[in-house]
Amino acid sequence: MFNIEEFDIKLDTEIIGRNFVYCDEVESTNDLLLKSKDFNQHGAVLLAEYQTHGKGRKNREWISNSGQNLTFSILLKQNYPEKKINLINLLSSLAVAQALENLYQLNVELKWPNDVLVNKKKIAGILLESTSKGKKIEKLVVGVGINVNQPNFPGKFEIQPTSIRKEFKSIVSRERLLSEFLNLFEYLLDTALEKPDKILNDWRERCKMIGEKVKIIQDKQTLIGVFDDIDDDGYLILKTADKVEKIHYGDVSLR
Ligand code: ATP
Repeated sequence: MFNIEEFDIKLDTEIIGRNFVYCDEVESTNDLLLKSKDFNQHGAVLLAEYQTHGKGRKNREWISNSGQNLTFSILLKQNYPEKKINLINLLSSLAVAQALENLYQLNVELKWPNDVLVNKKKIAGILLESTSKGKKIEKLVVGVGINVNQPNFPGKFEIQPTSIRKEFKSIVSRERLLSEFLNLFEYLLDTALEKPDKILNDWRERCKMIGEKVKIIQDKQTLIGVFDDIDDDGYLILKTADKVEKIHYGDVSLR
């Protein structure tokens, strides 16, 4: 059982998480927050102990034991321009990385655009989804799944999952982790408006693929080149044999 008081004591934000909804079971925290008319405030956070249809990108599944991990979504309603969305994607993974470093001294690696790895294994996943009115983004939700106290991950995965419990060798407080994450998330979100370079540099520091030869799969197309850098908006700059390309999406792996 998630202890809301324990979480609230350590929450140091102005807006993010001040409107907090706790559910036993939902289909998907992202879907509920995108659709809900009741929980419609900027910064609202919805945490569910279990998702019957937890999602990853391209309708891949997010599988997480009930009551052992963190699966939650944050609602943002600030009409961010399209370009800022990618930065929010990067800063969400950076906030997870910094929370894991601060609380458990884990050595975290970030994989473009938003995978969080420890010892080459996946410890968290992030999925941004939005609804639009005309050209304006009306609601943006940041869905986060962090493997916290789950002891093992049966099944087949492209990248092997791991949890804090497995890496830190101890069961940890989900309440403390959620408050730490939201504190960092709000700080980074504010920073993104004034000093986006700070976010980009902190993200770069944790990405081991920059400078390496990579393969990028985009729908039916495969691109091969050197992961040169991320640009000012956080898009991946790929140097292929004859040109430099800006990559907006795709699955990146080392060649
Ligand atoms: P990939 O991790 O293969 O690059 P992705 O970035 O699209 O994919 P997400 O959208 O974040 O990943 O999450 C979906 C993927 O994560 C699924 O394909 C599944 O293999 C994997 N996955 C599902 N549940 C977990 C979990 N609890 N821990 C780690 N990985 C998981």
